[in-house]
Amino acid sequence: MPAASETVRVRFAPSPTGYLHIGGARTILFNWLVARKAGGCMVLRIEDTDQARHVEDSVQKILDDLRWLGLTWDEGPEAGGDYGPYFQSQRLDIYNQYMQQLLESGRAYYALETPQELNDMREKAKKEHGGFRYPRPNPLPTIEQGQQAKQEGQRVVVRCKMPDEDITVHDSILGDVTLTADQFEDFIIQKGDGYPTYHFACVVDDALMKITHVLRGQEHLMNSHKHVALQRALGFPTPIYGHMPVIFNMDGSKMSKRDKEKAIKAGLAPPEIEVHDFRTAGFLPEAILNFIALLGWSTGDDKETYTLDELTQAFSMERIGKTNAKFDRAKLLSFNTDWAARLPEAKLLERLKDYAAINDLPMQSANDDMLTRLLQACAGFRTFADLQKKIGFLFVQDQAIEYDPKAVKKVLAKNDNAGFSILAQTQTKLESLEHFTKASIEALVKDLCDSLDTKMGNIAQPIRVAVSGSTVSPSIGETLELLGKERTLNRINKCLAILA
Ligand code: GLU
Repeated sequence: MPAASETVRVRFAPSPTGYLHIGGARTILFNWLVARKAGGCMVLRIEDTDQARHVEDSVQKILDDLRWLGLTWDEGPEAGGDYGPYFQSQRLDIYNQYMQQLLESGRAYYALETPQELNDMREKAKKEHGGFRYPRPNPLPTIEQGQQAKQEGQRVVVRCKMPDEDITVHDSILGDVTLTADQFEDFIIQKGDGYPTYHFACVVDDALMKITHVLRGQEHLMNSHKHVALQRALGFPTPIYGHMPVIFNMDGSKMSKRDKEKAIKAGLAPPEIEVHDFRTAGFLPEAILNFIALLGWSTGDDKETYTLDELTQAFSMERIGKTNAKFDRAKLLSFNTDWAARLPEAKLLERLKDYAAINDLPMQSANDDMLTRLLQACAGFRTFADLQKKIGFLFVQDQAIEYDPKAVKKVLAKNDNAGFSILAQTQTKLESLEHFTKASIEALVKDLCDSLDTKMGNIAQPIRVAVSGSTVSPSIGETLELLGKERTLNRINKCLAILA
C-alpha cells in the first residue's frame, strides 16, 4: 500500500499494436482524472516488448489521438521525466537485472522444454483430464543448465516459481478477489527471444516508476494476482488496484476491433471502434470524453453533461461501478449534437479544421471566415460528416457535380419534368438578379412561389438539386449566396442539360 503522504502517480500503458481503442481512451481518462484530482502525476508508458504485434507508426498515432482528446501526460514519450526511458523496449537492461535477481533467489527458473515438448504435454494433459497446468519440473533446471541451453541455441524461457499460497487482490472497485494456490501455474516471465513478458515488465515498471494506483480494464483482473506474486518475489510494494467494467456493444458482445472486420464481411459499414475512427467520422473530443466518462462511472444524480474540468471536480474512484458498460451509439450521437451546439465558435472551428485535414477534404482550402459561415449555416448538425454531406458540393468544380439519380427523379423529372420546368424559369430570374445575396435570393424565390401559386419546396428543391446534386444543403438563400451567381448559373445549366 502506498503511504498516505505519497504523490499519486498513475499510468496509461498502451501496447503499440495499432490505434487507440475507445476502451483505452476510457482507461486513460479515468487515470487522468485521478491524477488531476489529486494533483498527482500521469505517466505514459509504451509497452512495446511484443515484437510480433508491433505496428509501425502506432506510437505516433496513439500520442496524436491522445492530444486530440486533450488527455496530456506529465511523464512519458516527448515529455521526459525522472523515471524513464518510457519505452519498455529501451529498458531491457533493467528487466535483465531484476530477472537475474529472481533467478538467483530461486523465485524463478529457466524452463527448458522445446515448444514441441510443451505442445505434446498440453495435448496429453487435455486428453487425460481436459485442462493443462504447467507441471513444475522436479528437480528444477539450474541457472547453469539454463545458460548452457541458451548458448547451444535453444530458446529458453524463464518462469516465475509461484508460491504455494492463495493470493488476494484488494480491488478498490470490486472488493477482495482471491485465487487459490491450485489456480496458479508457473507462468512465463521471459520469452524465448529474451524479452520480458508483459507481466514482468509491467510489474518492474510500475514499481520503478513509483506508480501508486493501477486503474485498468477488468480483462486484466486475473493478471493482477500474478503481478502481486511478482511484487512479493521482488520486494516491491503493491499499488492500489481498480479494475473497470468491460465495454460491451448494445447486443451484449464485447466491443472489439474485430467488429470492424465482421461488419465489412457482412457487407455493412464498419462501426467506429478506435478513437481515430470517431475522429475521422466527425465526432468532437468533448463529446467523446463526456460519453466515455459515463461508461462505468456516474455521480448518481441526473447530470450527464460534463466538461473535462467538471469531470475532474466530480470524479471519484469510489463511484466507478462493477457492472458492464454498454456503448450506446445513439446516445453518443446525441451527445455530439449537443456538444456541437454548445462549443464556442473558435473551438468548433479548430475541430472542423482537424476533421477536414484528417480526411484530406477540399474544404481545407477555405479560410476561417468561410468555415465559420458553414458552421453557422449547418447549425444543428450531429457530426462533421453531416456538415460535409451538406456543404461538400461547394468545394467541387462546377463541371464535376454529380447528380444523385434518385434526387433527379424525385425532384426534377417527376410529373412530366415539372421540377426541370420550374428550374428553367428560376434560372431566368436569377440571371437578372443584380445583388446575389441570401435576402434577395429568398425574396426572389418567395415571389416565384406567389406567382406560380406553389409551395416553397417546389421551387427550392429543384434549385438545390441543380447546384448540389442532392436534396440536402443549407437554406436555399444561403446555399446560392455561398456559391455565388456565376457558379450557381453554371450548375443550373449543367443540370438542365440532363433533360436535353
Ligand atoms: N499494455 C497493456 C495493455 O495495453 C497494459 C495493461 C495494464 O494497464 O497493465 O493492455
